Amino acid sequence: MSTDLKAKTFEQIEQIVSELGGKAYLAKYIFSFIHTQNAHSIDDITPLSKDFRKNLKDAGFYMSRLKTVEKFIDPDGTIKYLFELPDGIRIESVLLSNDGPGSRKTLCISCQAGCRMGCDFCATAKIRFTRNLTAAEIADQVNIICEDSGKINNVVYMGMGEPLDNYDNVIDSVKIINHHAGKFIGQRHITVSTCGITEGIDRLSEETILPRLAISLHASNDQLRKKLMPIANKYPLKELLNCLKAYQLKTKKRITFEYCMIKHLNDTPTHAKELVKLLSELKASVNLIEYNIHPNCDLRPSDKIIIQKFQDILMKSGIETVIRFKRGQKIKAACGQLGATWLKG
Ligand code: SF4
Repeated sequence: MSTDLKAKTFEQIEQIVSELGGKAYLAKYIFSFIHTQNAHSIDDITPLSKDFRKNLKDAGFYMSRLKTVEKFIDPDGTIKYLFELPDGIRIESVLLSNDGPGSRKTLCISCQAGCRMGCDFCATAKIRFTRNLTAAEIADQVNIICEDSGKINNVVYMGMGEPLDNYDNVIDSVKIINHHAGKFIGQRHITVSTCGITEGIDRLSEETILPRLAISLHASNDQLRKKLMPIANKYPLKELLNCLKAYQLKTKKRITFEYCMIKHLNDTPTHAKELVKLLSELKASVNLIEYNIHPNCDLRPSDKIIIQKFQDILMKSGIETVIRFKRGQKIKAACGQLGATWLKG
């Protein structure tokens, strides 16, 4: 049976090395050559003896690699990468840069090809779900984009797919990109976003490595949320909020709530007040996202003045609130648009 070394965490590679009779320090060479030195194959891990490389290959180990199909650059500086997986399936990742003093790069990565969650406002939901990405395919988006664009400060699991619907591979990939022998991206600089799968949030709170948690909320009551996000039928707000309180009690971490501002749907002062009440027992911050249109969807973005008023209500109630204006829209790389290139309309 063949096994992808790139999908292995540092500890798993230590185990492999030990089982093959190698010295413990070889694990560091293998891991760092894969994740920082751009090794394409086991033969590229040159500090290993020829014999040990042969042992690895004879034991069925190999290294996968994503193929970069195309790179789209928006006039605002956002870059979208189109990747092909080894079985020909395509996924997208987006690199956002904030230039100027203290410039930072945030990479938005995908964890599934398509998504099963069916959110009404999201282009990814409209393309067919094909499969979960492996930990290697998730981590390789970071490796390849770092190689192309230099150091990345933050990684957010907000691209195609629902991270907690691919829990094990997502957590392994978080461990891989966080490890000091690899990309060494700090846990505070990694964000996992979910539409609210409570079992996954409970599991996350037990992990030794704790990325930031973001919740795709988008509605201030169940009735509206059920209209926008089918997952709300399975996990009503009361259950989700109770789960988040338990998460926060255990982890002491602030939670970010993502809220797409959709015209005449969820953007009134009444919704803002409802949201304040909803979040009143949590240490929370809110990102208001200017809705991004895509084919096959009639929803429209709220006016800027409406978004501003919504923010004011939240801020006056003491909730830290940031407005995320459209980025990467011309190349269909904005929030909720991934996969839109494959949709007709
Ligand atoms: S918003 Fe996220 S969870 Fe919902 S369909 Fe899109 S990718 Fe899936």
